[in-house]
Amino acid sequence: MSPSDDRPVGPKRRELSAANYVGGVLAGDRAILGRAISLVESNARVHYELAQQVLTQLLPHTGKAQRVGISGVPGVGKSTFIEALGTFLTRRQHKVAVLAVDPSSERTRGSILGDKTRMVNLSQDQRAFIRPSPSSGSLGGVGRKTRETMLLCEAAGFDIVLVETVGVGQSETMVADMVDFYLVLMLAGAGDELQGIKRGILELADMVAVNKADGGNEKPAERARREYEGALHLMRGRSDGWTAPVVKCSGQSGLGLEELWGHIDRHRNETQASGQLAKQRQDQLLRWMWQMVENELFDTLKNHPAVKAVVPDLEEKVHAGQLTATLAAQGILQSFGIPR
Ligand code: GDP
Repeated sequence: MSPSDDRPVGPKRRELSAANYVGGVLAGDRAILGRAISLVESNARVHYELAQQVLTQLLPHTGKAQRVGISGVPGVGKSTFIEALGTFLTRRQHKVAVLAVDPSSERTRGSILGDKTRMVNLSQDQRAFIRPSPSSGSLGGVGRKTRETMLLCEAAGFDIVLVETVGVGQSETMVADMVDFYLVLMLAGAGDELQGIKRGILELADMVAVNKADGGNEKPAERARREYEGALHLMRGRSDGWTAPVVKCSGQSGLGLEELWGHIDRHRNETQASGQLAKQRQDQLLRWMWQMVENELFDTLKNHPAVKAVVPDLEEKVHAGQLTATLAAQGILQSFGIPR
């Protein structure tokens, strides 16, 4: 099967029923998995309903994968690293799905993450499946699509899902909240910048890996590793009883991959045994559910004609200091029919 088999192939394709999708995904049919993902990614109402039917039927077959988020700034070596880690895992008989969350994919009309041309070997690996970031009008939309794609991949038998994202802003928090383990890639030579690194990023991390520890860069990498270790010791990690390890690695040479995956496995075993893994996933699902309600409500409110009619005037008055923000907010809610 060629790597392009999971891409849409044009309008003349036979329509699939929910049962076709479910059967195909469960059988691990990559072409049908690709189409099921396109269905989940579609913004059309009719697709949305079919997608939810398919997902509901697949739900009992989901949840078995190790879900790992991998983030880092552009240039840190994410795609090289994922290519190396993915290959390391498929050689150990794992089935690895690589998804991407790229907040810029809408603007750039195509993703720079999860791009198959960036992971040449992995994209030809029969035990791997790579899907670029969905493009969408909102980050929330990308989040839903990626979470549902993850479920489809699990139902299709992938036991490891890697979610790649860029180390900036909200996409980081969003990805951290859909995975079991969050890995942050860093570079050596960032010592001076260490104070500038947002505390929030390190607080999300279940592990930090100083990448590109190769070709004479080992010493600065070790120095950076110690600095991050010091910084992390002062912080409370994501999971109780887990101190985020700081390791060195090289996606290019493969150094550190075994140790790194050892930590991820250990985290998995510990959180599974303590019940934390199940609890974290339940919490994530409920947060996500409420987030969707919140987003939808807010969109509905903002686009309501009565709200649109009062907003410009209220904004202007707040801006000019003639009205308190509180009263303006109340005015907006009232125009939507929410009494004080
Ligand atoms: P991304 O933007 O984070 O996905 O980074 P890429 O994987 O595209 O790598 C960015 C640049 O760093 C490329 O020129 C790579 O050749 C280089 N690079 C990636 N990984 C390593 C590594 O482990 N060691 C070294 N020395 N260079 C690397």
